[in-house]
Amino acid sequence: SFYLEHIRLNSHLNAFLEVYDEEALKRAEELDALLAAGKKPGKMHGVVIALKDVICYKDHKASAASRILENYTAIYHATAVAKLLAEGAIIIGRNNCDEFAMGSSNENSSFGKVLNALDNQRVPGGSSGGSAVAVQAGLCMISLGSDTGGSVRQPADFCGIVGLKPGYGKVSRYGLIAYASSFDQIGVFANSVADAALTLEVIAGADEFDSTAGNEPVLPYSAKLSEGKPSYKIAYFKEALEHPSLDPEIGTAIRQMITRLREKGHVVEPVPFDFTDYIVPAYYVLTTAEASSNLSRFDGVKYGYSAKAGFTDLTDFYKKSRSHGFGKEVKRRIMLGTFVLSAGYFDAYFTKAQQVRQILVEKTAEIFSSYDILISPTVPSPAFKFGEKSNNPIEMFLADIYTVYANLVGIPGISLPLFKHSSGMPFGIQAQCPREDELTLLQFSHRVM
Ligand code: GLN
Repeated sequence: SFYLEHIRLNSHLNAFLEVYDEEALKRAEELDALLAAGKKPGKMHGVVIALKDVICYKDHKASAASRILENYTAIYHATAVAKLLAEGAIIIGRNNCDEFAMGSSNENSSFGKVLNALDNQRVPGGSSGGSAVAVQAGLCMISLGSDTGGSVRQPADFCGIVGLKPGYGKVSRYGLIAYASSFDQIGVFANSVADAALTLEVIAGADEFDSTAGNEPVLPYSAKLSEGKPSYKIAYFKEALEHPSLDPEIGTAIRQMITRLREKGHVVEPVPFDFTDYIVPAYYVLTTAEASSNLSRFDGVKYGYSAKAGFTDLTDFYKKSRSHGFGKEVKRRIMLGTFVLSAGYFDAYFTKAQQVRQILVEKTAEIFSSYDILISPTVPSPAFKFGEKSNNPIEMFLADIYTVYANLVGIPGISLPLFKHSSGMPFGIQAQCPREDELTLLQFSHRVM
């Protein structure tokens, strides 16, 4: 009831699309009763968790913050949710986000923007803005978001909390409403690395419902958190720190951090990286292509919103349902995606972008053959003001420069809130590691936090 009260007091932040008041209280009582009856508490016993509105929770609405799914009720649990419940978690509500997880500021939600709790004039980041603010403002203990190109790490950076994107396939995507399936990962918002580690340990693992979820055993991340190496080999991209879009204060903070890491005995070295200008375009070509295919299932017949009248034939019905149901950014991306996949342009855009992705995968393997960790800023600037970038999609896209790399190559990434900007807003550093090495990433993060 502490959290329910907090949510009520902070309803102006618009972080929640729905709060499961009575149900959460009842669940807490049931968990108490189980404990009183001598049952062993689960790893998440009584932990209050919120879910981004793209993650299915059986018998509850899941709208992806879109009109087209406004009245859709999930008929099964996402695997991650089922695992949390099995360990005794309390799901307190669903969080506002950018429609279909497309955006960087939460200004693309069909149900209003989310305010950054530290400065209500500023964006919380996106697309998982509501989930980030829910943890930032103490409205729950932990929340789950999704990260296709930074949607957990970037809002965590803007809100001053920890945001973890596991490697591709670490957490089952079953029950996660798809944006770009070869990029999407469920991620965790938390106040500490320890909380993120424990949550990952619970939600990770193989799943018969998602063939892309890896079979590797899930390690006891939280128990091993303090067992990290005495020193790490850390790489950074010099080009990334010299990028014109990088706020000078953030650049300085990262450089000082590099000096401090060296003083503590870590090896920190620049590695050449010539692909900075290609990663954001490759990301937007590939993700919009996948999105245009994934979102074709929303035709007004099988799911959600349907045009009620005023259509002439079936094609017109699809057209009207989709034009009314989807918001502007989603439509922009569907059009972009169908364009890059169209016969005449496929090779010029889609094939090229896939080639870039392949080169990046090879480059990443090469880097991690000599280094444990790759560090960078999480975002080139701290949280910006509402409206500042919303009329300029290219500028909005370019702000994803440091986060989309991890999704293109499938590696884990985490944003750690370490600094404060003169604007008063927090910002962090991002650490990335080889695929399947979340343990090293978490141990390193625990050390520097
Ligand atoms: N800002 C990126 C985009 O709009 C990231 C979104 C995400 O990770 N879901 O695609």
